[in-house]
Amino acid sequence: MSRAETADNGKQRWVVKLGSALLTDDGCGLRRSAIADWVAQMAQLRGRGFRFIIVSSGAIAEGRARLGWNLRRVSLHEQQAAAAVGQMGLIQAYESAFQGYSIHTAQILLTHDDVADRKRYLNARSTLRTLLELGVVPIINENDSVATDEIRFGDNDTLAGLVANLAEADRLVILTDQAGLYDRDPGEFPDAGLIRTGQAGDPALLDCAGPGGALGRGGMLTKLKAAETAAKSGTETVICSGLEADVLLRIAAGEQVGTLLGVARSPLAARKQWLAGHKRPAGTLVLDDGACKVLAERGSSLLAVGIIAVHGEFKRGEIVSCAGRDGREVARGLANYNAGETRTIMGRSSDSIEELLGYVDDEELIHRDNMVVL
Ligand code: GLU
Repeated sequence: MSRAETADNGKQRWVVKLGSALLTDDGCGLRRSAIADWVAQMAQLRGRGFRFIIVSSGAIAEGRARLGWNLRRVSLHEQQAAAAVGQMGLIQAYESAFQGYSIHTAQILLTHDDVADRKRYLNARSTLRTLLELGVVPIINENDSVATDEIRFGDNDTLAGLVANLAEADRLVILTDQAGLYDRDPGEFPDAGLIRTGQAGDPALLDCAGPGGALGRGGMLTKLKAAETAAKSGTETVICSGLEADVLLRIAAGEQVGTLLGVARSPLAARKQWLAGHKRPAGTLVLDDGACKVLAERGSSLLAVGIIAVHGEFKRGEIVSCAGRDGREVARGLANYNAGETRTIMGRSSDSIEELLGYVDDEELIHRDNMVVL
């Protein structure tokens, strides 16, 4: 059974990243008909159980076009202003294309801090999960208007890799204006060969990647790095041309398009490693025998009712160890409540969380998607 089947009732979760070079006509506004075409493919695949998160560039390019700055050199602050203007057009283009299929879209603008901080990471993750459950297509971009150098991703390839981690996506599809990764620069060497498959993170591939293009910030190098990041949570990456007809439909049908970068270990093993490898647990939850059993046998979420003791101090979003009465660690996961809150709600049913705390963040103490059973 694939991870998608275990995690989300048979739904394949894809992050689709669209770059500036593909989305804009040489910086002269958005290519709306191309957007409509990709959206049509996603709408069709949704009917077959696929779920999409879009990471889209193009805000700065669209903003420059709207402000009539196509040929002008602009300062960083002007670029940030252009991003704010262009983001409106970008979202509008996706929104109206998806509306044609009665599919809602949502805008999420992130900075690096939003995924570096555990608490905000968990919040962003919960929001994404809720949007997907509601059938909404989240459209994510870097929050260019407020991002300073310290909190920048810098390019949307990096952002897309991290979003693949956030969503624990099955696949990251990076649509670009090139057919995939070549063994040499195809602009310089006409006999350059397209690399069909590889392993994400293989250092030999990095030698093949050249520098980035003029419009988007990322080149092949950042795409390979994004694939390496995505692989950490078990996500495979396809780098291919968004200009090819029916590209998403063809990938979904199993056709080999562009370059496929696989995950060295099984996706599930990679994901377990991803969670288990998150720094040392900040605390320990002692579980009753019933909770240990359902965790081990069914991989269910951990509820407050199954907890008999809480050791240590941890914050919401930190990793905690789950142990049986005998002290043997049975699982690790990201806690939805801090240590104090957990002490208040332990041994009680999820229905009583609101009464005990005055609010409910999540029904479960650790969601099964955020937990590794050891
Ligand atoms: N976030 C930028 C934008 O939307 C693009 C960054 C990139 O091209 O990688 O304009």
